[in-house]
Amino acid sequence: MILEDNKSDKGITAKKNENFDEWYLQLVTKSDLFDYGPLKGTMAMKPDSYEIWEKIQDVFNSMIKESGHRNAYFPLLIPESLLKTEKEHFEGFTPEVFWVTHAGDNETSERLAIRPTSETIIYHFMSKWIRSWRDLPLLLNQWVNVLRAEIKMTKPFHRTSEFLWQEGHTAHATQEDAEKEVALTLGYYKKLAEEYLAVPVITGKKSEKEKFAGAVYTTTIEGMMPDGKALQMGTSHYLGQNFAKPFDVAFLNEKEEKAYAHTTSWGVSTRLIGGMLMVHGDDKGLVLPPKVAPTQVVIVPIFKTDNESIVMQRANEIKKALDSSGIRTRIDSRNTYSPGWKFNEWEMKGVPIRIELGNKEVQENKITYARRDSGEKATCTTDDAIKTIANALEEVQKALFENAKRLLESKTIKVSDYGEFKKKIEEKAGFVIAYWCEEDECEEKIKDETKATTRVIKEDTNASSQKCIYCGKEAKKIAYFARAY
Ligand SMILES: [Zn+2]
Repeated sequence: MILEDNKSDKGITAKKNENFDEWYLQLVTKSDLFDYGPLKGTMAMKPDSYEIWEKIQDVFNSMIKESGHRNAYFPLLIPESLLKTEKEHFEGFTPEVFWVTHAGDNETSERLAIRPTSETIIYHFMSKWIRSWRDLPLLLNQWVNVLRAEIKMTKPFHRTSEFLWQEGHTAHATQEDAEKEVALTLGYYKKLAEEYLAVPVITGKKSEKEKFAGAVYTTTIEGMMPDGKALQMGTSHYLGQNFAKPFDVAFLNEKEEKAYAHTTSWGVSTRLIGGMLMVHGDDKGLVLPPKVAPTQVVIVPIFKTDNESIVMQRANEIKKALDSSGIRTRIDSRNTYSPGWKFNEWEMKGVPIRIELGNKEVQENKITYARRDSGEKATCTTDDAIKTIANALEEVQKALFENAKRLLESKTIKVSDYGEFKKKIEEKAGFVIAYWCEEDECEEKIKDETKATTRVIKEDTNASSQKCIYCGKEAKKIAYFARAY
């Protein structure tokens, strides 16, 4: 039996601009990326989403390795005594920690935390590995899972108790070097988000209240989702000597004097995937940026019994040519589904370019291709296929970024009056930019009254001549406020 149509049971029934939350849940499950685990907050990443993660790993590894970082691996279980070594850090994370208390039938001598993040366990090793200024900088990264109990709300890829991430941990001889590292890696995150995931981001610092537990300061990249909520997509922290001192990450400097290292940590997680899916997806399914799409081009051969072999032969030739030029191509040769059914399925999966190849195309030595993002169809000769498809992939990548940039711009507004501020937050306007006195109290009251938090803080030369949006006192900074995931 040939199945004609997948709209009735497989298509997304919620509309992105009407019921965004439901649309997103259907998007990630119906496109075959995600499944819920038996324990709330856990997830299975199916092969298509894991391959997106592998692409992210490839891109990011090449960036960090070029600047001398190396991947390593550290233990999953952190003894409580170690996690407690830096007080602020421990207090910040302890509400989210999963504890292991038994090994088999025996109670462990102390509770063991399943890593919520690995600063403490890595500093345990750094204190042994670093002896002299010659050992610095020490530039480490690991790709692992972490667990943080999500009690309130879980959302596929955005907020799960277990997720995958990379965590970079570096030690430097001077504050200057460590701060350069923080800026360097934040720059990598911006590049990864914008040039690969096609999601434009705002960069800057976090407020004291929003910074990483134990950090001197935190820098961030924040994206804007179509429903007007901000998404923290990556953070890079300057930890000063806050961890180096209690963990004794120390070295002998060139004068043979003991000095403490300045450390940094930085991470992005599978949340990046969630942000990318939300920004680009549409009512037909995923729309994947070509640079991270597991399949960039799908060839759908259209044949009957009498011409199957000639059409398939041409399809294989085209696949081979595209593959050899580095374009990730697959052929959907299943003969139990109609071409229309397959078109719907590949649209759902967000494959950037679909090539249609039937009798007419074979006879005339051409291909018909369609862009997933715009639906535009065009033809070109078989000889021009590689060049044409490569260009089309670049155009899709560019168009997705430009669309997302327009979304960000349309959801970023500046206000100077608190009434207007509340109205805009209530209207889900996105980033609402306002001057702020930098006092915790104003930030907390704004959060209580509007559910908006400070997402990014920026220096502003005019701040001192401006008034805080909430208290009216002299402003110190400009802040991007938003409700957030
Ligand atoms: Zn204020």
